[in-house]
Amino acid sequence: MQFEHFDTSAMMAVTSRPELVFLQGQGSWLTDQAGKRYLDFVQGWAVNCLGHSPAVLVEAIAAQASRLINPSPAFYNAPAVELASLLTAHSVFERVFFGNSGAEANEGAIKLARKWGQIHKNRAFEIITFENGFHGRTLATMSASGKLGWDSLFAPQVAGFPKARYNDIDSVAALIGPNTVAVMLEPIQGEAGVVPASMEFLQSLRELTLKHGLLLIVDEVQTGMGRSGKLFAYEHAGIEPDIMTLGKGIGGGVPLSALLAREDVCCFQPGDQGGTFNGNPLMAAAGLAVLRTLLEPGFLPAVAEKGDYLGHRLEQLSARHGLGGERGAGLLRALMLSDDSGPAIVEAAREHDPVGLLLNAPRPNLLRFMPALNVTFEEIDRMVELLAACLG
Ligand code: PLP
Repeated sequence: MQFEHFDTSAMMAVTSRPELVFLQGQGSWLTDQAGKRYLDFVQGWAVNCLGHSPAVLVEAIAAQASRLINPSPAFYNAPAVELASLLTAHSVFERVFFGNSGAEANEGAIKLARKWGQIHKNRAFEIITFENGFHGRTLATMSASGKLGWDSLFAPQVAGFPKARYNDIDSVAALIGPNTVAVMLEPIQGEAGVVPASMEFLQSLRELTLKHGLLLIVDEVQTGMGRSGKLFAYEHAGIEPDIMTLGKGIGGGVPLSALLAREDVCCFQPGDQGGTFNGNPLMAAAGLAVLRTLLEPGFLPAVAEKGDYLGHRLEQLSARHGLGGERGAGLLRALMLSDDSGPAIVEAAREHDPVGLLLNAPRPNLLRFMPALNVTFEEIDRMVELLAACLG
């Protein structure tokens, strides 16, 4: 594809991209090659939790880059040690392994659970996951995902991921057998269309897994790091999982993820887990800057408040346009449409002039909203105004 002075033919075609190249971003706004501005309510799929190029992140990365970029994961480095300590101090977990993507953190969680099963549960290896769940794009995490059509894409799948129905505790209980070692789920299924697990379901899952001596793994790649209005979404249900994975927001836009586990689950031995870039100080310094910001007094309550406001504005819009209401938590929300016009609305919003709006439709019958966690009330109002113009 050739447009303006960009020739994109050397890029592998893995998704259909519009004819625009973003050159700059600041906060909730992006600017393309033609100088057009876009209000961004996708933020790299819930990645840029502090918006585009926030000063705190730019400064942390620049300072760390000039100090030390990567001494090798075979040595400790100061930002990784500090970030691990901060994450464990603010969660129910005691140990952290850093990765580069959500899928990699989930691969690590799967490996840790299988290793634990080898040692403590007579080599049990099955991890019960959920219909419509999403855990990443490596072979094991695609197999753990319950996305329609993924069971035959790149077949054969990695074995050992029976699928239960989300929010249906009996369907989980029915799958438990001698080979079961863990249950793994997203507290809110993001790619499925922002479908929250009920508090009762999460609490029953914890009871059920404890009763059967199984590990409970929460994939908080999308819901973690403040997205739900609390630092981690499992906190809403008052449960204590055994393993958690983080990605997306943890680096504020740079490749960083984490696998967290309780001490008695940490059974990796030297050589079991690792990777060239894992826990490098450059990314860890970014993660540290992000987490310190999220922990500032008032930051997370403001996310919850703006989440409620976004929900309220979407509910109003839904009533006015005869749509199907909204759902979600914090600043991860969805607006249900009355038909499959999601992709068309996303395109119309992006092409809206003179200011575009970036939205996402993980399912054709709904729109997903994942703005920066420091989005302003005015930006939420502006988004609703732009969206209303497109719906109209
Ligand atoms: N887990 C969940 C819940 C996700 O939403 C995603 C990405 O959307 C992933 C895992 C995979 O993360 P990554 O794309 O960083 O590999």
